[in-house]
Formats: sequence, structure tokens, C-alpha cells
Amino acid sequence: MSTPLVIIHYDEIALKGGKRRAFEQQLVKNLNALLKARGWPLRARNAWGRIFIDPAAPKQDVPLPDDWRADLRAALSLFPGVATFGFVEVAEKSMEALERLAPAFAERVMGHTFRVSARRTDKRFPLKSFEIERAFAAAMFRAAPDGALRAKMRDYEREVHIEVLDADIVVYLKEPGIGGLAVGSSGNAVSLLSAGFDSPVASFMLMKRGVRIHPIHFHSMPLVSDEALEAAKDLAQRLSAFQGRLKLALVPVLPIQEHIREHAPAHLRIVLLRRSFMRLACAYAAEIRALALATGESVGQVASQTLENMRVIDDAANLPVLRPLCGLNKREIIDIARRIGTEATSARPCDDTCSLFLPKAPETKAKLEPVLEAEARLELAPLEARALAERELAWFAFGQPLEEPPAAPPSRW
Ligand code: ATP
Ligand code: MG
Repeated sequence: MSTPLVIIHYDEIALKGGKRRAFEQQLVKNLNALLKARGWPLRARNAWGRIFIDPAAPKQDVPLPDDWRADLRAALSLFPGVATFGFVEVAEKSMEALERLAPAFAERVMGHTFRVSARRTDKRFPLKSFEIERAFAAAMFRAAPDGALRAKMRDYEREVHIEVLDADIVVYLKEPGIGGLAVGSSGNAVSLLSAGFDSPVASFMLMKRGVRIHPIHFHSMPLVSDEALEAAKDLAQRLSAFQGRLKLALVPVLPIQEHIREHAPAHLRIVLLRRSFMRLACAYAAEIRALALATGESVGQVASQTLENMRVIDDAANLPVLRPLCGLNKREIIDIARRIGTEATSARPCDDTCSLFLPKAPETKAKLEPVLEAEARLELAPLEARALAERELAWFAFGQPLEEPPAAPPSRW
């Protein structure tokens, strides 16, 4: 076996008892899809409780680009299922050779508390794990100016990890990922994706829990410009970086809005439109066999996001409506948006569906009965069927748009 270039650890997956193998395989599969999409001659494989990324078989002698480490670091630090990862340095199998790597690692942990941890896959190596840890840490201290290094056994900021493998010894600094579960291990959900801050973050949170997201965006073209639609596409493209293949559905809802505006009381417009969104999203979910919906709502964030309204809106859905942000504050949501790279797109000003449609005094404490009565006087079913039939699709994979629909069977998307 070749010496790995990168070692990846997962945490939660290891806890999942009988399901563990399936989770590991899903993560390996997702990592291989990423490596393949980048066109790099690298392969991920399962390696006794962790994952190795190795050079691919020599027949593929495609060179790695110079910046592959920076690119892979950015991807792994937000890859659902990856708890930590490290780019390895390799030493021959002796303490002398190993200790020659100590000065470089001393430099990398300077200014932070750190610990050294060691693990032996090859139990024949003469030193025990704790002896390797001590000797390497001592070599790091010798290499650094007095007082420059601070070792700490618990609550350290950096971890230098040593593994004695069959052929060599590898050393790496553990870098943090986001953990969670590999996308594809928790089923499918339709995510209502607007052009704002919240819904992309909500989608990301569910991907982190292993859910494959199928975003749906409702737009009011041609009444409004295509700004919101373009923003939704850009957000979907960014979100595809975390889950690989991703298909965005773009659904025209202007006729529905016009019908509601003409035939329903102004204060109920928003609630009625949201109920229509729920029905459309559920119908779409049934087609693609998704088991839940997701929105970016947070309790009390805006006047319309009250428990009363949520209850009336959810009544129109026949699937569970997940709201991964319901307990977060706006600042917390924007911090995540910044971290996952959706903030700038979400901050772009645009006319979205609801701002044009907004009455002066929208209902903030909707009651089910009057809403159902108002809805009974509308003829939304044919308009909803048409909207769904007229949807367009946009395809993305690992942060890039695809010009053509992919060859994979539609059910796999
Ligand atoms: P966001 O920041 O996600 O736009 P928001 O704070 O603007 O949310 P609302 O406008 O009340 O809140 O929307 C609540 C949720 O409804 C959104 O998070 C999103 O999931 C869904 N939603 C709103 N508008 C659309 C749309 N045009 N297409 C798809 N989903 C939408
Ligand atoms: Mg919005």
C-alpha cells in the first residue's frame, strides 16, 4: 500500500454501531466524487477507522496542480462527515528520521497550545506510542526558542499526530473539519431556497447532518428582474461544493401571486402564498422521493415568522417541515453564511417574490379557519400544477455549474 498524502478522521460515524460501515462507505464515496470532479490522480479509501487519500494507480500519471493542497484544504474544512484532516509528512521508520521533522512542526504550532499524539499500526515498532509522543515533543522543544512552545494535554489548540504505518511513519497537524454525517446517509429533503441569508445556511446545516438537499426556488419573473433567480443559482452553485451533485428547481409563481392578490384579503396574502409554496414543494418532494421540506425560518426573526403563522403554513404541507435555524439569532446565521461563502451573494439587493407582494399590514398571528375559508374561494390547484410543470432545472457539481443535464439517472439527482 502506498503512503497516504492526507489522513481524514470522522467522529460521529464511528459511534453509529451497526450502521458504521455504510456511513464510512458513503464518506469515502463522496470524497472520491470530489477528487474525480477535480480531475486529481488521488483516491480515498477506508483505513481502519479513518480514511486515507492516496496517489491513484501509477497508470494515471496526470500531474497534481501546484495549489491542490490549498484547494483540498478549503473543501475538506467544510465537507460533511470530515471531523479532522491532515496533510502528511513522511519519515523513514526510525526515531532519528522522525525527529528530523520536529522543527517544521514546532514552527507550525508556535503561538498555540499543542499536544503530540501517536498511534502504531505496526505494533512491532520498538517504541510504544507514549514514548514516541514524548521523544517527538522533546525534539520539538529543542528546535524552538526557549519558552516559545506550550504543550497541553487537554484543551489544546493544535494536535500533532504521528502514525507508525507498515512502510513509513507519517506526521500531520490535525486541521478541523465540520464533522457531522456524510451527505447521502440521511435521505433527501427539498429545501426552499430564496435569495436571502437564511435558507442557504439552513440547507448547509442539513447537509452537515447527512441530508441530500434538493433546492427549489420560486420566482416572479417576468414581473421582476432576474436578480433573485441569478442569486438563487449562485447560492445553489456554492452549496453544491458541500454535497457534490445538486439540482436546483426554478418554479414560476407569478400567476399564483396575481390570483391571490386579486381574490384574497390583503392581510392574508403572505400566509396564503406560503401555503402554496408548501404544496408545491411537497408535490416536488413526492416526485423525487424526498421525505421532508426545509426552510430558513427562525422563530420571531421577522414579524411574519411567528409560531401562529408557522402552524397555519405547515398545515398545507404533508411532510415534516425542518427549520434548522429556528433557534439561531441573525448574527449567528450570518456568521455561518460568511464561513460557508454565501454571505456576499445573499447580501446582494434584489426584488424577490414577496417584497412586491407585501401588503401594508401582513397577518402576524394567522388563525387556521379564516385562512382556510379564504383559500377555499381561490382556484389555486390548476395554477400550482402549471407552475410545477413549467419549472426549469439547473445542475451543479462541487461548486461548478453543469451545462448539460448529467448522464446519471434522474433518480440519483
Ligand atoms: P431568507 O433569508 O432565507 O430569504 P427571510 O428571513 O427572508 O429568509 P422569509 O422571506 O419570511 O424570511 O422566508 C422564509 C423562508 O421561506 C425562507 O427562509 C425560505 O426557506 C422560504 N422562501 C421565501 N421566499 C422563497 C422563494 N422565493 N423561493 C423559495 N423559498 C422561499
Ligand atoms: Mg428572504
